[in-house]
Amino acid sequence: MQKDINPERFIRPHLLDTKPYKYVSPLEVLSEGAGIPAAEIIKLDGNENPYGCSPRVKEALSTYPYYHIYPDSEQRELRKALAQYVGVPTSCLVVGSGSDELIDLILRLFIEPGDRAINSVPTFGMYSFHTQTCGGKVVDVPRDEDFAVDLSGVKKAIVAEGAKLVFIASPNNPSGNTTPEQDIVHLLETGVIVLLDEAYYEFSGETMLPLADSYDNLIILRTFSKWAGLAGLRVGYGIFPQKIARHLTRIKPPYNVNIAAQIAALESLKDLEYLRRAVQAIIAERQRLFTRLSEVEGLQPYPSKANFILCYVSGHRAVEIHQELKGKGISVRHFDTPRLRDYLRFSVGKPEHTDALIAALKEIC
Ligand code: PMP
Repeated sequence: MQKDINPERFIRPHLLDTKPYKYVSPLEVLSEGAGIPAAEIIKLDGNENPYGCSPRVKEALSTYPYYHIYPDSEQRELRKALAQYVGVPTSCLVVGSGSDELIDLILRLFIEPGDRAINSVPTFGMYSFHTQTCGGKVVDVPRDEDFAVDLSGVKKAIVAEGAKLVFIASPNNPSGNTTPEQDIVHLLETGVIVLLDEAYYEFSGETMLPLADSYDNLIILRTFSKWAGLAGLRVGYGIFPQKIARHLTRIKPPYNVNIAAQIAALESLKDLEYLRRAVQAIIAERQRLFTRLSEVEGLQPYPSKANFILCYVSGHRAVEIHQELKGKGISVRHFDTPRLRDYLRFSVGKPEHTDALIAALKEIC
């Protein structure tokens, strides 16, 4: 028996107190907490697609005969279909188990312990999470009061810190605004790697993809989680300069995208008409949700180009409202950081979800 040995002493020191990512609760937990059946929970906390995936996905998954065979590690069929959807060669595309996995892989490729990455905060939490697990140092440059990127601040930080990489989500999560093309160009001109996360591209219709021809330091990430309703199956992809794609492909786990996820993504790309109708419904509902939120006393929504709306809550009541909504079976997102303490983020649901949310908010506020 070697009970007195402390195995923790072998753990890489920088990982001993890494803060875990604060993920959203699953339906069953929300249901148990509120004492409301899962089917009746209104889940507006994860920017998921309330219309679900294409019916073709369910059909294809129920009839696929080869679950006992390993999936294609190069995801050839899916990358071919994606090349057509995106309009780039297959050699530029790398697929991951969600774009989360790609963020991790990209950072494993570039970040050595002590390397710096610049983050335009508040933004998506996985950038700092994965930089830290790689031993890198995240340098935060705050966005301005309207959540626009502080371009000169970011450029200064790149130079001062000798950074290798800068993260920009556009539309940004949680603020919903996009970053203008000229700002992205300025960042690309610095020569560092620009990781541009377009997870919500289908809702904004804005992409910097045309810049990929001119800049070998531009990486664009996309996902099937939001517009295609596949968050539970985990498929994301990146559009990379070929020089980077080659190296990423070498370090990625061979079977990182399971066969169900590959089938689901492929079938989604065959059913664009259906999915685009759902995206249009969400965009229309985003406008209605914005209007209805502005009518609630004490709330000030920010315009959004994604499938969620960030809202300022006056009187320091965000935490309390978050909890009260939860008790009514409506789950929304609150971020426990100094900058976002007085905000709530609402994912855009179906019209009936907006109605229930607004009725509950009016009651609470
Ligand atoms: N990027 C951004 C900006 C996001 O908001 C999210 C999901 N919350 C992701 C990436 C991760 O997406 P995926 O489900 O593909 O891992």
